[in-house]
Amino acid sequence: MDKKKPGEQLREDLLHQKKNGWDRVDEATEKAIFDYCDGYMDYLDAGKTERTCVENTVELAKAAGFVPFQRGMELKPGAKVYRVNRGKGVNLAVIGSAPMDQGVTICAAHIDSPRLDLKPTPLYEDSEMAFFKTHYYGGIRKYQWVTIPLELRGVVALKDGSVVKVSVGDGDGDPLFTIDDLLPHLAAAQSQKKLAEAIPAETLNILVGSRPLKDDEGSDRVKIAVMKLLNERYGITEADFISAELEAVPAFDSCDIGFDRSLIGSYGHDDRVCAYAAFKALLDLPSTPVRTAVCVLADKEEIGSVGVSGMQSRFFDTFVEDLCASQNVPLRVCLEKSFCLSTDVTAAFDPNFADVFEKNNAARINYGIGLCKYTGRAGKSGASDAGAETVAYVRRLLDDRKVLWQMAELGKTDVGGGGTVALFMANRNIDTLDAGVPVLSMHAPFETVSKLDCYMTYAACRAIYEG
Ligand code: MN
Ligand code: MN
Repeated sequence: MDKKKPGEQLREDLLHQKKNGWDRVDEATEKAIFDYCDGYMDYLDAGKTERTCVENTVELAKAAGFVPFQRGMELKPGAKVYRVNRGKGVNLAVIGSAPMDQGVTICAAHIDSPRLDLKPTPLYEDSEMAFFKTHYYGGIRKYQWVTIPLELRGVVALKDGSVVKVSVGDGDGDPLFTIDDLLPHLAAAQSQKKLAEAIPAETLNILVGSRPLKDDEGSDRVKIAVMKLLNERYGITEADFISAELEAVPAFDSCDIGFDRSLIGSYGHDDRVCAYAAFKALLDLPSTPVRTAVCVLADKEEIGSVGVSGMQSRFFDTFVEDLCASQNVPLRVCLEKSFCLSTDVTAAFDPNFADVFEKNNAARINYGIGLCKYTGRAGKSGASDAGAETVAYVRRLLDDRKVLWQMAELGKTDVGGGGTVALFMANRNIDTLDAGVPVLSMHAPFETVSKLDCYMTYAACRAIYEG
């Protein structure tokens, strides 16, 4: 036995040691990390929008024995149910052995991502080229969305009540779309502008065609030719765009990043990386949990969790209240004993932009799931600021299960900030803590995360559900 020097011993006993996750996992865990991430990458590619993500989630849930929740159905311990919110969000639950008056454990993520939505009157022709006008959704940096391949996903709801699904770009041989930018030869004036102003929102117009209608002398011949193709393929006319939700998203799939394949590059890690963790952890529960486990995949977080499919909607309360009603438990009794991990991504320390981070409190790639006591901006404005006891509860749970975690603050105080669904859960009288995967280039069309951190977020969700 080599005796430690007094200083070494004190460091070990008294200081919070931080170590790269790859130095702390065994071979079996390494394999589990890579296997888990293969599944995650499939999940990413199958669900680039909230609607397609819900479809894929429901398919996987059904295969794992989940059934649609019906009001009044009998719910025995171990029962697996889900309820879809208007095609854009989904709540899933595994009924626990303890009654609902003991509370539920929740992992809540969001499945909407920043993107370009089509305006209600999108299609126009200019200089014999056809374009779609867009209205950006969420916090994008506009200059990142030009000169990349885009695909189109969404629905057109017709007056007769039917809904036409639109998907262009994910099929073999499908065409793609793009937004053009200025050539450097003529960009002298643009290059002098501020980054935020160089690409105005009204120039984010998607190029969708250039071939005029044959044997026609009228105006808008390219636009009509495009509309004709859309009519042939989808049976829609221009007025139908008015009741459509069409989203332009990056047209590339997820991929390994780095010679060592330790990272994943993709569109939409925020927040499908946590959505998949919360969902997969529920699927993988080895036995009936003590407390009922609830996975929430919400829409509209990127614009403030508003609307009927956002986390502020009563949809969540209705779902849990229905579960409670099967045991004659009042909702408020359940919620006050519940716990929620608000699983959403955080900013990863980036040495290329070191000056916006405060090193002691920034999340680092490969150090595990980042726990955020508070989000918000300035003086914690807009944060739910979890109680010390709540943070201690999660620390203990994760340490007991050997889940690698770190504390995370999103950048230096007063540099910026952000929010999650956490405050809306806390407002419901549910103890809530923010936690999630640190991301590089968050909100860019192509974001990067560490595979180890993805897996540790999954492991954390399992620890929460299993209590
Ligand atoms: Mn997010
Ligand atoms: Mn976001």
